[in-house]
Amino acid sequence: MLNGRMKGFLVTLAGALAICIGSPGEMWGQARRVPPAGQSAGGSVVAEYKSANFIVRTDLTAKEAQELLERLETMLGLISRYWGKKNAQVIEMYVVKNLANWPAGMLSPEGRESVASGGGVTSTQKRTLGRAWQAKSIVYAVADRGTPQHEAVHAYCAQTFGSTGPTWYSEGMAEVGQYWRGAEDKSVNCHDHVIAYLKSGEPKPLKDVVDLAQFTGDSWQNYAWRWSLCHLLGFNENYTARFKPLGLALMAEQQGVTFWTVYGTMAAEIEFEHRLFLQNLEPGYRVDLCSWDWKTKPQRVRGSRVLVSKVEAARGWQATRLEAQQGETYAYTAEGTWTLEKDAKPLSADGDESGKGRLLAVYFDDYSLSEPFELAAQGTFTATQDGQIFVRCREDWGSLADNSGALSLKFKLSQ
Ligand SMILES: [Zn+2]
Repeated sequence: MLNGRMKGFLVTLAGALAICIGSPGEMWGQARRVPPAGQSAGGSVVAEYKSANFIVRTDLTAKEAQELLERLETMLGLISRYWGKKNAQVIEMYVVKNLANWPAGMLSPEGRESVASGGGVTSTQKRTLGRAWQAKSIVYAVADRGTPQHEAVHAYCAQTFGSTGPTWYSEGMAEVGQYWRGAEDKSVNCHDHVIAYLKSGEPKPLKDVVDLAQFTGDSWQNYAWRWSLCHLLGFNENYTARFKPLGLALMAEQQGVTFWTVYGTMAAEIEFEHRLFLQNLEPGYRVDLCSWDWKTKPQRVRGSRVLVSKVEAARGWQATRLEAQQGETYAYTAEGTWTLEKDAKPLSADGDESGKGRLLAVYFDDYSLSEPFELAAQGTFTATQDGQIFVRCREDWGSLADNSGALSLKFKLSQ
C-alpha cells in the first residue's frame, strides 16, 4: 500500500475496475424492496450515516441505517480478523431502498443500473506505483438483507488486497461473509432458496465451479455453488488450513497459484465431501463436525481379534476401522450413552422410541456411500457388500452441535 503522498506523474491509474455484481437475491427480483404501506416513494430523503469503517448514503430511515451500519461493522470485524488485515480506509456505500428517492446524477450510471435490477455493484479504482498500489472502492447496493454485506466484502478485499480473486473465490467468499454470524460460528445460515436449489439436482463438478472463464453476475444458481464450495473449504477440518493462504495468494494475484495447485491432489476427496455436504445440507449443518476421516486405516478382522473405535454423538459419519467383507457376519457392542440436547435423557445406541439416538452404519467404498442401516447397543450383522464401516448417531444433520457423549464400539467376527 502507498501512503497518501503519491506523485501524480508516477502513478498509473488502472481504470475504473468494476468488480462484481450482487448477491443471488437480486437475480430474480425477490430481494427488491418496495416502500412500506403509508410511506410515499418520495417520502424519504437520502442522508449520510457514518461509523468507524463506513460512510453510507441511503434513503433508509435513520433507525434502519443505524442497524445496517451495525451489521456492516460486525461483519467487517469478522472478515478482517479472518483475513488478518485491518480495513485500510473507509468503505463508501450507496444503499438504495427506492430509486425514486434518488435525484439524477447522485448514483453512477452502473450503480443505478445494478440497483434497478435488484442487485449491487462494487467499483474499484486501483493506482499502481511500481510494485506499490492503492485501491478505493465504492459500493452501490439495494437495501435488502444480504446485498450490502456481500458488496462490502468485495470492497474490503479490493481495498485491502488489491483484488478480490477469481470469480469462484470472490463471489463465494462474499456470500460466506454475508451469512457469517460470529467468529466461532461455522453453521450453515444461507437463504432457504439456496439450500433448496443446491439439493435439487446433481452437484456441479468442482472443475465447473472453479472454472476461470466464469464471470460475475451470471446467475444466482452459480453463486450458490460458489458459496457451497467456499463454505466447505473454509470450515471443513480437512481443507481449512490451506484455504486462507490460497485466498490471500489469489487476491494478491500471485503467479501460478490456482485452486488446482493447492487442492488438486485432494480433488476426489473434496468432490466426495461436497456431495455429502449438499446431500445433508440444512440450516445449522456443520461441515467441521462432518469432516470425513481420511486417516483412520480400515482393516479386515480375523480370528478372535476385536476392533475398537469411539463414536461421538456430535459428529457426522465416523470411521470404525472395520473393513467389511460381503457375506461375513460380525458381532458388535456399543457401550455408553449419549444425549441429543443439553440436559436431555441419556440414550444408548438403541436410541429413543422415535429412532433418534440410534447407532447408524454405512458402507464407504470407492468414494461412494451405501444406504445407511441400523445397528444397536449390541447385535450381529452380515455384510451385504464390501466396504469400510462408518457410523454415526441418528440425529437431524443441522442439530449435531449440541449433542454430547460418545460410545465405545467393538467389532469382531461372529463365531
Ligand atoms: Zn459479488
